[in-house]
Amino acid sequence: MNDDERPPLDILLCAPRGFCAGVVRAIDAVERALSRYGPPVYVRHEIVHNRYVVDSLKRKGAIFVENLSEIPPTSAPVIFSAHGVPKAVPEEASGRGLFAIDATCPLVTKVHREAELHHRRGRDIVLIGHAGHPEVVGTLGQLPQGSILLVQTLGDVEALCPRDPENLAYVTQTTLSVDDTAEIVAALKQRFPHIAGPHKEDICYATTNRQEAVKRVAPIVDAIIVVGSPNSSNSQRLREVAERSGCPISRLVLHACDIDWDEFTTVKRLGITAGASAPEILVQEIIDAFSERRKVTVETISTTDESVFFPLPRALRDDAAA
Ligand code: SF4
Repeated sequence: MNDDERPPLDILLCAPRGFCAGVVRAIDAVERALSRYGPPVYVRHEIVHNRYVVDSLKRKGAIFVENLSEIPPTSAPVIFSAHGVPKAVPEEASGRGLFAIDATCPLVTKVHREAELHHRRGRDIVLIGHAGHPEVVGTLGQLPQGSILLVQTLGDVEALCPRDPENLAYVTQTTLSVDDTAEIVAALKQRFPHIAGPHKEDICYATTNRQEAVKRVAPIVDAIIVVGSPNSSNSQRLREVAERSGCPISRLVLHACDIDWDEFTTVKRLGITAGASAPEILVQEIIDAFSERRKVTVETISTTDESVFFPLPRALRDDAAA
């Protein structure tokens, strides 16, 4: 198709989008470990929830496992993913003499420390999060079984039967829907007026900012594409936020080949964003794929600037090597 035959398409790029500071740090940790110690470097669980990222690290010599039991006796580094791990995991690594490096996002670690502090103060803890997500598994695993009650919905709040309703605290997964979580927190506060909470949100800055940007763009476009993996919690939430903000078509795709092109034939304005674990190269791949079919203009709609940076895990910093 030549230029004149292609129907026009305005792309509105949400900003911020894509990689957050915790993801950059986790990926850098694997790359630094590979360059400093050479392959293999073992990584427990997908370092971040993005297949493209995981496959690129595999090609460089990273070996991904779900359990430490899959790792043979070795002096190679073993890196824990950005989502965090239950306490039993570093304990097992230390028991086996493994060289463990923790790439848990500092904002997830902050939630772990909050939960521990509440526990030391004798409080039972309510964790708002999605059952089975590795971050939730990791947070539940910071304290003895039964110390943390998981709630996912308003119905779960209704059904809660804490041992001491006067002595409760809540923490949350970092990658939830800001609006859903606000509703659940309000319901918790109504049922348990003395419940203690975080001084400032547990939902991280990256999740909040990406959802805000989608809320700005969703009402003024015909469709939104969220670039991300289906197992990425924050990417799934972005898709839901777009849908709830009134966008008629809202799709989560990892690659351009996942796009159902028929759905987009009548779309004149398209919003694009990316989950916190999705690299910009995948966003560009999707813009390029649309450019082959449509005469594309691209405008960035920015709701805030981000300048958050987390240093590498201590064991990988240059001064530690010295
Ligand atoms: S999404 Fe938030 S909590 Fe998760 S790695 Fe990024 S900054 Fe950390």
